[in-house]
Parts: sequence; C-alpha cells; structure tokens
Amino acid sequence: MPTHYDIFIKNCRILQPAGQGHQLVSGSIGIRHGRLTAIGAAGLGPGATADRLIEGDGLVAMPGLVNCHVHGAMTLFRGLADDLPLMTWLEEHIFPAEARFVSAEMVYWCTKLAAAEMLLSGTTTAADGYFYMEAAARAYRESGMRAILGQAVVDFPVPGVADPGQNIKAVTAFIDGFPPSSLLQPAVFAHSPYTCSAETLVRARAVAREKEVPFFIHLAETRGEELLIGAGDLSPVAYLDSLALLDPGVIAVHCVWLSEADMDILARRGCRVVTCPESNMKLGSGVAPVPAMLARHIPVGLGTDSCASNNDLDLFGEMDSCAKLAKVHNMQPELLPAQEVLTMATSMGAACLGLADIGTLAVGMKADLILVDCRSPRLTPLFSPDLLVYGARGGDVDTVIVDGRLVVSQGEVLTMDVQEIMARVRALAGQVAEADHGK
Ligand SMILES: [Zn+2]
Repeated sequence: MPTHYDIFIKNCRILQPAGQGHQLVSGSIGIRHGRLTAIGAAGLGPGATADRLIEGDGLVAMPGLVNCHVHGAMTLFRGLADDLPLMTWLEEHIFPAEARFVSAEMVYWCTKLAAAEMLLSGTTTAADGYFYMEAAARAYRESGMRAILGQAVVDFPVPGVADPGQNIKAVTAFIDGFPPSSLLQPAVFAHSPYTCSAETLVRARAVAREKEVPFFIHLAETRGEELLIGAGDLSPVAYLDSLALLDPGVIAVHCVWLSEADMDILARRGCRVVTCPESNMKLGSGVAPVPAMLARHIPVGLGTDSCASNNDLDLFGEMDSCAKLAKVHNMQPELLPAQEVLTMATSMGAACLGLADIGTLAVGMKADLILVDCRSPRLTPLFSPDLLVYGARGGDVDTVIVDGRLVVSQGEVLTMDVQEIMARVRALAGQVAEADHGK
C-alpha cells in the first residue's frame, strides 16, 4: 500500500534530542491519525501522498510548548494593576474584580482569548486552574488545544462556589461530570496551604487520589508563607508532608522559598514542580532554586502563571527569562543552559503533567508540534537551538499542530474567530476598568 499522510512537512529543520540537549537536523515529518509516523531525511517518496503538504524551508519544527501553570480566564485582568505589592494587587484590584466579574460566560470568553494567545505563541498544552472550569473546558475544546483543567478549591466564597463548605463536592462533581476526551482531562487545584485548611487539603488530595487525576497546589511562592499557614516551625513543604499529601501525583507550583531539606522532601516523595519565573519577578516574590531542584532529579516544568502577573502567555519569553534569571541570581553564566530550558518547556513539562506521548518529535509520539519561522533578521544566523530560547518569540510561530490537527497556519488561528473573542473581552474589560477606577 502506498504511504499516505494527513500532513507532510517537507525540508524543514527538526529539533531532536541529542545527549543531554538538542540538535537541529534537516529533514521531513509525516503525520497520520494524530501521530508522527515518519521523521527523516527523505522527502515524500515515490507513490506517497499527503492531504496537506507544508513547505518547511526556513522553518524549525519543534515539539509544541507545554505551559504547566496558567489561569487562562485572567486574561481579562491583563495590565489592570501593575507594579504593586502582592497583597495590594490581590486585595484592592484582583479579588474585587474577580468577585464582581467572574462568571461562566466570562471564563468561557477569556479562556478562549488565553487559548488563542497560547496557540499563536506555540503552546499546544496548558495546565489551567480557575473557577467555572466546565466553561474553560468548553473554550479549550473549541480551540483544539490539549489541556488539564483544575477546578479551584479555596476555603472562602469564590465565583461558582458561594459556600466554601461545598468546595470538595464541587470539585468532585466537576471531575465526575467531565466528558471523555482525548485532549482534555480534569484535575484538582487546591489553591494553597494558606487559603485551604488542613482538613480541606486532605480531602482535596483524597479526591484526586480516588479519581486518579493530578493535584495542583501553589506552594512556597512568597517568603514567610509558613506564617500565613500557622503550623509552628514547619515550612510549607514540611507541613504538606506532615499531612501525608506529597507523592508523585502532586504538582507544586512556584516553590520559590525552599530550604535544602524542603527540596530533599520533594525529591524523596517524587513530587513535580512548576516554575513561573516572570510572575515571580514581577511580583517581587523571589527566585526559585531551579538548578538545585534539577540536580535532585525533581522534574521542573515551566509556567506563565496568569497574565495578570506576567503580562503575557508567551513561553518563548518565559524560557529566556528562566535561563537568564538563574544565571544572574547565582552569578554563574553556565547554570541552566538554554538546552535544559528547552527540555523544561517540552518533554520535562509533559512529564510534569504525566503526559508520556508528547514533548519530543519521534515516530509514534502524538503529533503536537510547531513550526518556527526563522527567516527574520533576528533569527539569522541560526547556529544552534539555543537561539530558540534567547532569540525567538511567540510571534515567530508560523504553524501549530495539535494531535495531528492543523490549528494555526501562517500565524492565523483556524479553530476560533479571534476577532470576535477580542471584541467580547474588550467589552468585558470596559466594565472592569470602570469599576476599578470608580473605587
Ligand atoms: Zn498561579
């Protein structure tokens, strides 16, 4: 039988694993039934056919980026209040705006905006945590992205769960009612050890274990979090460990303020970590000890966090910040090489989320990949994949394929009406601005 491909990408350069890092290899890529079925030097070959042929000249094919921590719907609050201390920002701007404006409708449209922004900047998988996650799931489904969706658990009234006594019931119902999907899966997102009681944390962890879904939690984001928790001398990590919560199902987000002993606990329990360097920088939270965690073989993924504290969802920029932050913080330029950060944003990020068959371009893997247009002055010349970290930006992404489906072509989203999404979010933003200034 002659070979047939759904999509065939001809004569591009392909980012491939090489030792501890990556290399760029010239070749072609064949995709069929959602998977990579051919990668190599040869072209289409005699008799072979493809529904869609993409000329890859000047393009670099790389795995779709994995954003391990985002609150998609918070695109509505992008730039609403910049350059403020965390508590002022939260209590005077974000929390009041959330209380007033977060609804299922808002989550749907603003998550669609986030999905559009992420797809256009090369992110094919996101781990999102917020409220009204059924609405977020609808947005992601329509976008064509791959996503893990964590319904937030907090011990105070939040949008969609007015009675905190119902928060465990709400997350259980969210998971039980989640429609089967090859691209989307539900999760538990316990907000933090200082917004959830010990009892709530234990119950939320039990739900995640029983339902076999990931358990996300913000952990050790700011200095002095242990004072907010009020568990005596225990650090936030030691506190969670004392509650028997930590195991490989836990994905701990931020992990900025960790002692050596905390890192040993996370390594021993097999926990996974997500670092969000730009959000930590902007809120002045501190610098996560990423090299020290990697040295302990703790998988560390990369996240943007919400774009209200970033202010974008561009993982290319995040990779750049992540690599440089470790260097300047430790005054060691060899720390956290670009190649290691590329791994964090692809295969290690996928491993963090428990997704085994994305994150690397190899035959048999799911076809989640992007084509980066390197025909611009600032990406010329292209000696090594390091420039994808230090030079490329989300706007350089030309093509995005998720699960074998073309979702962005020549910088245009094919799955959603981006103009309509922006118009909807602008209308909502007008109301937010009026309320914020009217205070
Ligand atoms: Zn967050």
